[in-house]
This record gives sequence, structure tokens and C-alpha cells, in this order.
Amino acid sequence: ALAVSGVSKRFGSLQVLRDINLSLEKGQMLALIGRSGSGKSTLLRCMNGLERIDAGHITIGGHALSYAPAALRRLRQDVGIVFQAYNLFPHLTVGRNIMLAPRLVLRWPSARAEARAREVLATVGLSEKFDAYPNQLSGGQQQRVAIARSLAMAPQVMLFDEVTSALDPELTGEVLITMENLARSGMTMVLVTHEMSFARSIAHIVAFMHDGRIHEIAPAKDLFARPRTEELRRFLSSTL
Ligand code: ATP
Ligand code: MG
Repeated sequence: ALAVSGVSKRFGSLQVLRDINLSLEKGQMLALIGRSGSGKSTLLRCMNGLERIDAGHITIGGHALSYAPAALRRLRQDVGIVFQAYNLFPHLTVGRNIMLAPRLVLRWPSARAEARAREVLATVGLSEKFDAYPNQLSGGQQQRVAIARSLAMAPQVMLFDEVTSALDPELTGEVLITMENLARSGMTMVLVTHEMSFARSIAHIVAFMHDGRIHEIAPAKDLFARPRTEELRRFLSSTL
């Protein structure tokens, strides 16, 4: 479902990604961990074409990444991305927020988009909030709506960048459960996270990024139980 090969990326003179190689099977979850500035968000953003790569190839959700506008539009229908800031439209109800992309991008009639919105809202456990406005929801609920909004497009792959980092600790749990349920339903997922226990228990594969490289990559249990490099050992002890 995802293959990244030989990917490099610079911002000006700063080399941010160096020869990244990884692959992920359909239905698997990959967690990207590493220190601030190691290139995690940049790699995630490259995966759906938000940043342009300088070298290498990416295939994701059945698309070979290319930057022609029409190709990017098709790719983004199949690859959802959710950020730390949920960016819901404040003047639209939860239901309308979710219906927006199916209506505008897929040109679905209102009734079909509404049925889809109710379905994905149920998936994230917020059926009763269809008519609420974003500012009537908690941060955790808003983030779950943002996830539902992405799911409305029936993506092949979902990308998450620190979706719990802006939340109060008591609200992160409900968002993590939503992502765990999504993983159990067979969604292919890549997530950047600082939640080490979540990565350890839920992710299939964990990649530790350091200085723009994938420094270690292994099944979650192995990577945490037996870090092979000093850099990963130091990183893990700093996150305890
Ligand atoms: P964090 O954990 O803090 O989110 P990260 O691992 O996600 O860090 P990135 O956001 O990928 O790190 O940034 C990697 C490097 O690229 C950093 O040195 C950052 O300053 C730089 N960088 C990121 N975006 C840009 C940009 N648009 N222009 C220039 N430099 C950038
Ligand atoms: Mg980041």
C-alpha cells in the first residue's frame, strides 16, 4: 500500500530527508518516532505530495506520486491526512464539515453525502454531534470529527501528524482509541507520534528517524525491546 524508495528532500541548503526507504503492507500501521527536527513531518507531507521530493519514488494508495495537479487531486482522494490543528470550519455544523469534500470533490448529492457523514461520525463515536458546531465540542471530539472528515472520502491510506499533541492529557485517550479502532478495521496508516506506549502496542512497524534518516526500523515489539543503536536508546530513555 506504501513504498518509499531513495527519497531525499532539501529545504535550501538544509538536507532534511536522506535516502529514505520503507514499505508498508495494506492494513498495517507504521509509526514514525524521533526527536524534534528529525524530519518526521516532512516525510509524512512528502507522502501525499504536500512537499516535493528532490530524489526517489513514492507509491501510495495505488498511485505513483507525481505533481501534476490532476494526479495530486486523485492521490489526495485516496490518501487522507490529519494534523495537530483540526481546522474545522467554525461556521459549519459537524455534519456539514464532513459533507463538504464528498459534495465538492466527489460531487455527491446532498442525501448521499449526509448518509456518508452519519456513517463516519458513528465510526468515531460521535453520532449525536451531527448538528453541533465545532466550538460546542471538546478538543478531543473536534479531532475525532477531523478524522471522520478524512474518512468520508474512503481513503486507502491515512496519515496522522501528532494528532494528540495539542490536546489535554485526559482527551488524548479518546483520540488514540479512535485510531486504534481504525487500525483494527484494516486501515493502512502512517502516524507521527510522541505516544510511545501507543506506538509500541498498536503499530506493526516503527521507524526511528534521526537527522533525516531512518536510523532504525523494525516491528514495534523488537524496536522498543531491543534498540540497536545508541541514538535510539538515548531517545527512548529521554521519552520515559
Ligand atoms: P517535530 O517533532 O518538532 O514536529 P519533525 O521531525 O516533524 O519535528 P520536520 O518538521 O520534518 O521535523 O522538520 C525537519 C527539518 O526541516 C527541521 O530542521 C525544520 O526546521 C526544517 N523545515 C521543515 N519545514 C521547513 C520549511 N518549510 N522550510 C525550511 N525548513 C523547514
Ligand atoms: Mg513534526
